[in-house]
Amino acid sequence: MAQVKGLKCRECGRPYPAEPLHVCEFCFGPLEVDYDYDALRGTLTRKAIEAGPPSIWRYKALLPIEGEPVVGKHCGMTPLVRAKNLARALGMREVYVKNDTVSHPTFSFKDRVVAVAVTKAVEFGFKVVACASTGNLANSVAAHAAEGGLRSFVFVPSDLEQGKVLGTLIYNPKLVAVDGNYDEVNRLCSEIADKYGWAFVNINIRPYYAEGSKTFGYEIAEQLGWRAPQHIVVPAAGGSLVTKILKGLKEFDRLGLLNGGCATRMHVAQAEGCGPIVTAIKANSEIIKPVKPKTIAKSLAIGNPADGYYAYKVVKESGGHGEHATDEEIVEGMKLLASTEGIFSETAGGVTIAAAKRLIEQGRIPRDESLVLCITGNGLKTQEAVASSLKVRLHIKPTLRAFDEAMVSHGIDVTSRTMD
Ligand SMILES: *Cc1c(COP(=O)(O)O)cnc(C)c1O
Ligand SMILES: [Zn+2]
Repeated sequence: MAQVKGLKCRECGRPYPAEPLHVCEFCFGPLEVDYDYDALRGTLTRKAIEAGPPSIWRYKALLPIEGEPVVGKHCGMTPLVRAKNLARALGMREVYVKNDTVSHPTFSFKDRVVAVAVTKAVEFGFKVVACASTGNLANSVAAHAAEGGLRSFVFVPSDLEQGKVLGTLIYNPKLVAVDGNYDEVNRLCSEIADKYGWAFVNINIRPYYAEGSKTFGYEIAEQLGWRAPQHIVVPAAGGSLVTKILKGLKEFDRLGLLNGGCATRMHVAQAEGCGPIVTAIKANSEIIKPVKPKTIAKSLAIGNPADGYYAYKVVKESGGHGEHATDEEIVEGMKLLASTEGIFSETAGGVTIAAAKRLIEQGRIPRDESLVLCITGNGLKTQEAVASSLKVRLHIKPTLRAFDEAMVSHGIDVTSRTMD
């Protein structure tokens, strides 16, 4: 049984009932789900969690649903990979990759937020679910709506990658491509939400949706042996994930579930072509200046991030920092992760690797401290980003002689056992 007390305004603290609400009537602050932690202390133990299903639902007591999940039963519990090869390449001692490239069912961490949001939408009695998306949310909302037998309307900028478009259309939603960037799509969707009363997962039921991201943090801690790492690098779009990972770790700490407490420094990774949160962090200014996105990291291309201010605060209060990545660095980051760990991430993962590299070189992430890199989406969805730099160079006739000649002409030593 979840211990939801209700919603609470993040600014003025005013309480609200657990209904489809998202802004405070008094101060226009965003609402957040509030739990009865006293009731959970002592009952939500490590043992109780470990006895739960191998999915996000092992943490159900800290998620805002009343009954059983109606969709996304198999979401979560993705691998936390001890990345020794990548650590060596980065000059670090202890690096882990939290690998949501293999998230069920749509290969990004958005499955976590959507499994919670769509279950909540059904509990509220909504018949239509919808979203404004930079791509991954579109995939996940369409898939979970199909699973739950709900109608879905999905709104995206019209210039998305083919993998994200096809990976949405296959589930047969009403996909609406909008001539504009995400921020324009989002503005339109706020009006549609008001007019038609649909459950827009990241707009009018956003407080419930956002809680799903906490499971990314819970899993990191549990998979590290009930320990919080010293550093986490998180890619940011709207800025929600980075705040919720730390909220999850702090909740675990408050419930006495962590060895050694929680002193994790949160670092934000964004693209240079759309990095308003990181720009604010570097400038030490809590005012997030909106930008017009221009980057290959389309899943992170939100120029006016809804949770930008809170992401900024989490970074500063935790003692973390932020870094940008150029388009070239993003591609290099994708290639580095793939060639060292065998993990093909989407562009957002390249942003995380590139930003982490810069933060390590600057000494912001000391080389002897533990680091978790959040890899949030799958590379097969953003193949355009690497297509021009990956070419088949060995193309031969089906004979041994042709093979041998190709080895000679390309200067490849077939007797060598080291990687090149
Ligand atoms: C949406 C998304 C993010 C960022 O999530 P926010 O909570 O909006 O900051 C990170 N990575 C990927 C792949 C995403 O799709
Ligand atoms: Zn308020």
